[in-house]
Amino acid sequence: MIVGIILIQAVTFAILSGIVASNKNRDPAGWSVIGLLFGLFGFIAAVALGEGEETQSSDGQNSQPSGEEEFDPDEYEKKCPACAEYIKLEARICRYCEHEFPEEKVEEQIAQAREDFREKKEVEKQEEEERASVKEDMVVLGIIVLVFGGIALLALLAGG
Ligand SMILES: [Zn+2]
Repeated sequence: MIVGIILIQAVTFAILSGIVASNKNRDPAGWSVIGLLFGLFGFIAAVALGEGEETQSSDGQNSQPSGEEEFDPDEYEKKCPACAEYIKLEARICRYCEHEFPEEKVEEQIAQAREDFREKKEVEKQEEEERASVKEDMVVLGIIVLVFGGIALLALLAGG
């Protein structure tokens, strides 16, 4: 009976330590062993552990700039006010009706599009960060539930 409880708690904390370590970019196998050997203390050590350095960083300023999306005015169109056809944002003369756009107006439109592009990128980045933090919260919640569930199970086994 005692051996069973020790075994269950060792395995439980081995799994939890592995999850926490993996979440912090640490070696999950190594920390599973620590959790297995030291139980709750190994798990606490894994929780107290600082974030490891990301090995394959996908974002950040020091990564290659080729992955960064740049503003491309070619991808933007405007509607010609004279003939209602869609033409390139940078066009100064409509290719359908030869309606002329004043140069400062064209530059203003490009600047506006660039601003919109930047804002959209910013919003996307924030949403991504929000999703990541929600995921982290879920993992922490899962760990808490597992720990309390494990303790309840141990108490049940010890009592029975
Ligand atoms: Zn036109």
